Amino acid sequence: MSSVEIDLHKKLKQYFGFNQFKGLQEGVVKSIVDNHNTFVIMPTGGGKSLCYQLPALVEEGTAIVVSPLIALMKNQVDALRGLSSNDGIAHVLNSSLTKNEIKTVMHDIREGTTKLLYVAPESLTKEEYIEFLRSVKISFVAIDEAHCISEWGHDFRPEYRNLKTIIKRLGGDIPIIALTATATPKVQEDILKNLGITDANTFKASFNRPNLFYEVRPKTKNVDADIIRFVKQNSGKSGIIYCLSRKRVEELAQTLQVNGISAVPYHAGLDAKTRARHQDMFLMEDVDVVVATIAFGMGIDKPDVRFVIHHDIPKSIESYYQETGRAGRDGGEGHCLAFYAYKDIEKLEKFMAGKPVAEQEIGHALLQEMVAYAETSMSRRKFILHYFGEEFDEVNGDGADMDDNVRNPKKKHEAKDDVVK
Ligand code: ADP
Ligand code: MG
Repeated sequence: MSSVEIDLHKKLKQYFGFNQFKGLQEGVVKSIVDNHNTFVIMPTGGGKSLCYQLPALVEEGTAIVVSPLIALMKNQVDALRGLSSNDGIAHVLNSSLTKNEIKTVMHDIREGTTKLLYVAPESLTKEEYIEFLRSVKISFVAIDEAHCISEWGHDFRPEYRNLKTIIKRLGGDIPIIALTATATPKVQEDILKNLGITDANTFKASFNRPNLFYEVRPKTKNVDADIIRFVKQNSGKSGIIYCLSRKRVEELAQTLQVNGISAVPYHAGLDAKTRARHQDMFLMEDVDVVVATIAFGMGIDKPDVRFVIHHDIPKSIESYYQETGRAGRDGGEGHCLAFYAYKDIEKLEKFMAGKPVAEQEIGHALLQEMVAYAETSMSRRKFILHYFGEEFDEVNGDGADMDDNVRNPKKKHEAKDDVVK
């Protein structure tokens, strides 16, 4: 059936209980239902999952959803099962399943019960799975977190490079849907080329977050005091402070505590129990502040994070956008404050020293963009959006005055003089 023959609004309500599509969802859903290769670029929280879940539910056959993280797959499958009385509606296929579980999955797919099958890219290389999937009706293949295919993305995964060949083997004309929250033109180009879908219908949402205020301050030896002052001025509000190293996370969390701020540390060196406890304390508002490495944040959905502070500058604009994006999810205030010193850039460069040359070159180019952002005297929002290939009107655009440079214009040399080298 084509999209004009299906009442998609009715299906949206029936399966998900939503009255309206969000943003570009409706166009995406139609494109998929009409069997077009489709490329979806939407910021985190934009509602990408529904873009392929709804088509999968209304189409004949099973949709394969490629996703990099087992935990994310499990969440999605549980959510889908919650929408239906039928537990077979969605399955995960991966190496942790027992023989019997695999049998159930295959049975449900053959019967046409399973509308979505989540797989990790490495599972798809298994010959017996490919043989099986060739023998059943596949509606389309959705590739979530499609930036993993690109070395220019923040999470390159070589297994994603094999997808095009594997999908070809599954059948000649299976539509491919690629989805990502990475908006840089380079990554997008890589995705389309690597998947061989340069003809895809492309849907790109705006990455502008008008309620976020962007600020960069020079990082001096008094940075801890600066942070304490900021947090105290915002007392009672939730915030995240990112540091590069675990050691710094521990130290800063302690410094904050000593200064009467309720804060907990979070990094991958803590045991799972402590991590979970600290995360819960933050979510339940038993503490105001979490001091963390980038290990914190994936899938954290706290709507009222009021500030995100970077004690150390991150390795790319992409990372900065993702990390600051955790502020102001509810549309309310969100202050994004980064402390910048050029010597931190040199530190990051040193970390890359042992890596393969190609990786170093990419890392270096991404870092230089970060330097340019930190040192710019122009609208920071315009800078970020330009990086993502998006035009922004710095006078009338939504959120135009929400940054330090626009509020307090500086001449370029002054801005640079501020920076501690
Ligand atoms: P993404 O993958 O783009 O980061 P998700 O698919 O996880 O985003 O969706 C983010 C949130 O938006 C989810 O809580 C989801 O339930 C909600 N959502 C998606 N579509 C709609 C809609 N049409 N109406 C209301 N909420 C929606
Ligand atoms: Mg998603």
